[in-house]
Amino acid sequence: MGVLDDTAALVTGASSGIGESVALALAAQGCAVVVAARRGDRLADLAGRMRGISKVSVVEADLTRESECRRAVEETVEAFGRLDILVNNAGVMLLGPINGAPTEEWRRMVEINLLGLLYCTHAALPHLLQAAESEPRRVADIVNISSVAGRIARLNNGVYAATKFGVVAFSESLRHEVTRRHVRVTVIEPGATATELPFQNRPEILEDMAKTFGGVETMQASDISGAIAYAVTQPRHVVLNEVLIRPTEQER
Ligand code: NDP
Repeated sequence: MGVLDDTAALVTGASSGIGESVALALAAQGCAVVVAARRGDRLADLAGRMRGISKVSVVEADLTRESECRRAVEETVEAFGRLDILVNNAGVMLLGPINGAPTEEWRRMVEINLLGLLYCTHAALPHLLQAAESEPRRVADIVNISSVAGRIARLNNGVYAATKFGVVAFSESLRHEVTRRHVRVTVIEPGATATELPFQNRPEILEDMAKTFGGVETMQASDISGAIAYAVTQPRHVVLNEVLIRPTEQER
C-alpha cells in the first residue's frame, strides 16, 4: 500500500535523468504513471522496469507541440481514468554567450522549457481540478521543474535562465488561480545534478562548465525525485511551493 494508491501522474521528460527517477519514485508510492518523451526505446525500457511496481503507460511525444501535449494528457486520462499529478520536467539547457548565439538553440529552449510546460499545464488543468475534488486525496499536484537558474542569472545562461525565471513566474500566477481549489503548485529548483542535460552543448561550452562545476560533488537524479515525492505526499492542507535544492558544495 502506498500514499498515492488509486492516483495517476503524467511525467514529462521521463526518458532519462530526473524524469525517469520521478516516474520510479511515484510508482513506488502506488501511483499509476504515464511516462512521456520523444525517445520511445528509453520509455519502453523504463516501463519494463516499472511494471512490477505500479501501473505504467508510455506516450512517445514531442512536447514542444501543443497537440502532442494535449494527446499526452488525454492518453493519461484514457489509461487510468484520471490525472492527479503533472510533473512538467522535460527540458533542455544550451548555454553560451548571447552575442553571436545560434538562435536555433534559443528556440529549442523556449519551445520545450516554457511553451511545452505551458501547453501541458493548459491541457491538464481541467483534469487536475476534477481530481482535487475527488477521493482518494481531494488534492492534486502540478510540479514544475525550474532551476537555480530560475533564481540567479549567470554569465552564459541568459536564455536558459529566462525560460526558468519564466517557469517561476507562471507557477506563482497559477498558484493564485488554483490553490483555493486544492491544486497545489510546486516549483523545484535543482542545482547541478548528474544527468544527460549538459551533453547537448557545444564542446567549448562543456569545457567552460567543467571549469565551473568540476570538483563539485553533484546531486543524483534520485536526490531530486526524493524531494518531489516528498512534496506530493504531503497532507492535503500543506504545500511546498518552492524547493531550492543544491549540492552542498555548490556556492551559487
Ligand atoms: P535529461 O537530459 O536527462 O532529461 C531531459 C528530458 O527532457 C529527457 O527525458 C528528454 O527526452 C526530455 N525532452 C527534451 N526535449 C523534449 C521534447 N521536445 N519533447 C519531449 N521531451 C523532451 O536532463 P535532466 O533530467 O537533468 O532535466 C530534467 C529537467 O531538470 C529539465 O527541465 C532541466 O532544465 C532541469 N534541471 C536540471 C538540472 C541538472 O543539473 N541536471 C539542474 C536544474 C534543472 P527525449 O530527449 O527522449 O525527448
